[in-house]
Amino acid sequence: MRYLPGRHFLQLPGPTNTPLAVLQALAMPTIDHRGPAFGELGLEVIAAIKGIFNTEQPVIIYPASGTGAWEAALVNTLSPGDQVLMYETGHFATLWRAIAVRLGLTPEFIPGDWRSGTDPAAIGARLAADKTHQIKAVAVVHNETSTGAMSDIAAVRRAIDEARHPALLMVDTVSALGSVDYRHDDWGVDVSVAGSQKGLMLPPGMSFNAVSAKALAASKNARLPRSFWDWNEFLTINKRGYFPYTPNTNLMQAMKVAINLLHEEGLENVFVRHERAAEATRRCVQHWGFELQCLVPAQHSPIVTGVRMPEGVSADKLRAEILTRCNMTLGSGLGRLADTMYRIGHTGDFSDVMVTGTLSGIEMGMKALGMSYRPGGVQVAMDYLVTGK
Ligand SMILES: *Cc1c(COP(=O)(O)O)cnc(C)c1O
Repeated sequence: MRYLPGRHFLQLPGPTNTPLAVLQALAMPTIDHRGPAFGELGLEVIAAIKGIFNTEQPVIIYPASGTGAWEAALVNTLSPGDQVLMYETGHFATLWRAIAVRLGLTPEFIPGDWRSGTDPAAIGARLAADKTHQIKAVAVVHNETSTGAMSDIAAVRRAIDEARHPALLMVDTVSALGSVDYRHDDWGVDVSVAGSQKGLMLPPGMSFNAVSAKALAASKNARLPRSFWDWNEFLTINKRGYFPYTPNTNLMQAMKVAINLLHEEGLENVFVRHERAAEATRRCVQHWGFELQCLVPAQHSPIVTGVRMPEGVSADKLRAEILTRCNMTLGSGLGRLADTMYRIGHTGDFSDVMVTGTLSGIEMGMKALGMSYRPGGVQVAMDYLVTGK
């Protein structure tokens, strides 16, 4: 591809734009992962990531993408053939289910429309019908990155409790952690799954399992084969800041910086910044005259907005035009949504002007392709960002 001048706008819901200070930390010399300097770093980053999960319980850090942490959640807690109740929020829920199938589990998918989040009542009803407690785990996606629909995890927990069901609760918060408030302990989550390359503003390559005491107890009896992913290999050695095998040392140096940046801004401010960007983006898109992929206003994602194209209009053609014209990347439609929608990421490291810049790029791309839309969406977004109206 030819050189595109100017700063690239990586407006995906992950990987996201990486702050300069984080990139600089990545470029520090590689250190001995068994030496004294690393032990300190290990303790610091483990403590820091626990703060982001809002947990006092162990967090395991894997040198793997989010997919690895998905697999880890399942193999550490379950046995061959175990039933897992999952909810079809979209492409990522579908991928997690596929892993469960390949591992020899028996997932049951509550069907969804790829336009809304999890329905806690449907989960509660299914669990209430499971009198003999065959379902061993409930696994849901917090922010369904393929559609832009959020699920209310506290409500899922309440549904499980009201059904008086002992199933573990597993939550994929890969794309929300760091951008949206998350409460592993308060919400009673047993295994939380997250990754480095989204709200945490890091490059890809690290992922996490936050683990409850109940999940740890389950791991003692779980019979799925596991080695690389085994939590118990980590727990003792992590107490001194070390890891059972070579961790991603440079990414951990960068993670310390990234989490410091989140605290410098203030986590509450970070969450509000994402909410505002998402609202400005939705107002712009709706002014243009396009449908949002997520149909339920209370479930609109603060980190990604899915935009549906009218019948016969290619979302990928628009994304390609915007890439070459504006040096900006937008997310594609995934799975069954391919080419029928695109996704605007407003996650991680961005300012108001990056939000309006992103929307300007889309408006220019639509103009260049002669698409039909109502001009002026960017003005609506600017007005909202300045006045809150
Ligand atoms: C990005 C993402 C994942 C993990 O994907 P990897 O490519 O393996 O890092 C899982 N779930 C959700 C919701 C995601 O957005």
